[in-house]
Amino acid sequence: MKNLSEMKGLIFDLDGVLVSTEQNHFMAWQKTANLLNIEFTEEENENLKGVSRIDSLKYILNLGNVVVSDQEFTSLLEFKNEAYLASIENLSQNDCLTGVIELLTKVKEEGKRLAVGSSSKNAKHILKLIEIDHLFDAIIDGNMVENLKPNPEVFQKAAAYLNLSPSECIVFEDAASGIQAAKSGGFMAIGVGNKNIKDLADKYYNDLTEFTL
Ligand SMILES: [Mg+2]
Repeated sequence: MKNLSEMKGLIFDLDGVLVSTEQNHFMAWQKTANLLNIEFTEEENENLKGVSRIDSLKYILNLGNVVVSDQEFTSLLEFKNEAYLASIENLSQNDCLTGVIELLTKVKEEGKRLAVGSSSKNAKHILKLIEIDHLFDAIIDGNMVENLKPNPEVFQKAAAYLNLSPSECIVFEDAASGIQAAKSGGFMAIGVGNKNIKDLADKYYNDLTEFTL
């Protein structure tokens, strides 16, 4: 494995690495389930991690044995997204995950190039709300890619924006699909905050305070 200090670029997944909006998604799904009189618990929510919005709604409807028309299905998806968007407006710098600000500030000072590679269509907005958007040289979000992780497109685009090759960049990820995306794109893949990906990643840390170049 390459020496970490030789790496020129650091690319971060957003959700689960820099910030957690898991609770925001859960509350929004719970509001949606309430509309349908379906009980939706935090335990059930565990099954929705990494699941698309459409499949999540199917899961919840199934949970309550509820059948809706295509039109209702679409408006429920919109309702959930609006509830989610309203709730993330309350995010602030305090919601950055442990060690994020310290690490970003330090590596930036050392002259590393920094990017975000996220499937979220709200990535830029969230980075602004948590006040770290100015630290990145490139932000690649769900609006800019055709293929979602585990396809490496989002990280490849991020590296291209940084003017670096994948072999010069480290990717930080909390999801298996993201680690797969990084590896298949030729990046060093560092797992953070999700013990399930420990064996999949090139290196693993519980949170970013443990990481040094
Ligand atoms: Mg993630």
